[in-house]
Amino acid sequence: MSNIFNVHILGSSAAIPTSTRYTTTQVVNYRSKYILLDCCEGAQIQLRRMHLPLLKIDHIFISHLHGDHYLGLPGLIFTMHLLGRKKKLHVYAPHGMREIIELQYKISRLEPGFNIQYHLIHEARQLLYEDSFISIETIGMKHGLPSFGFLINEKPAPLNIRKESIEQYQIPVPQMQDIKSGKDLRLPGGKVVPNEEITLPPTPSRSYAFCSDTGYTEEYLEQIAEVNLLYHEATFLHDKVDVAAEKTHCTALQAAQIAQKASVKQLMLGHFSARYDELAPFLDEAKSAFENTILAVEGSMVEIGIESNVYKTSEEQTQ
Ligand SMILES: [Zn+2]
Repeated sequence: MSNIFNVHILGSSAAIPTSTRYTTTQVVNYRSKYILLDCCEGAQIQLRRMHLPLLKIDHIFISHLHGDHYLGLPGLIFTMHLLGRKKKLHVYAPHGMREIIELQYKISRLEPGFNIQYHLIHEARQLLYEDSFISIETIGMKHGLPSFGFLINEKPAPLNIRKESIEQYQIPVPQMQDIKSGKDLRLPGGKVVPNEEITLPPTPSRSYAFCSDTGYTEEYLEQIAEVNLLYHEATFLHDKVDVAAEKTHCTALQAAQIAQKASVKQLMLGHFSARYDELAPFLDEAKSAFENTILAVEGSMVEIGIESNVYKTSEEQTQ
């Protein structure tokens, strides 16, 4: 199975869409499992434009119930219905999402032809999703209403068996799982080969933290420590730090300070106020505190755990 772990940027504007930016929406692709983070007005148009498989989205996470983060959901569900979806859809959201969607369908006298299972988000560090490869938990945000980020952690990979050891000892396939989990190799004559002689360290686990709308807080620093990629809202430039505080949002500099204090490997800024046409100043401001910063550019895809995302110029980022 391919080892894909990336994030597609469908929208990066705060509150009001602009002529070039939709509001916050991202699609995480983990080994062809498509996960939608927030769902702006027109998210389905962006899914089409970016050739992302709309019907393969089985899990939708809504950070909070400000319209710029969820207003596209009724439309997306309607389109899924018209396209003949039968598979269950999982929606993870704070209290009220279910009522909003169900009222919509009650009034329009339409029941989607598939089940929607709602998962109530109600606290920080709540485990929302888990499979053999990843887990997704909430990150508590500080906002005008309950607001949550999402931390996607890849589970530790098994040890890798050295190719030459497989050949040398003719390791039978049934024993490989045991060796990958750390057990020693027992040869037919009774001799034991220590695990460390025949294995290499596992491929490092990767992680993505999506920090949606929040005022400046250091409460989640420990939780997001050393993630491969931190998406953090940066609604304003720092000359508007007072406005940011009043509206419980952050500046580019504050997002960079969070990244620096949490020792993340890379920072991606987004949720830019519609008052800004030019985004290069966000990158410059953040880089003054945290060099390894990129902008959430609509239509782009960022690989998680790949260092080469780093070296793009302001021009490249804002084109
Ligand atoms: Zn908000």
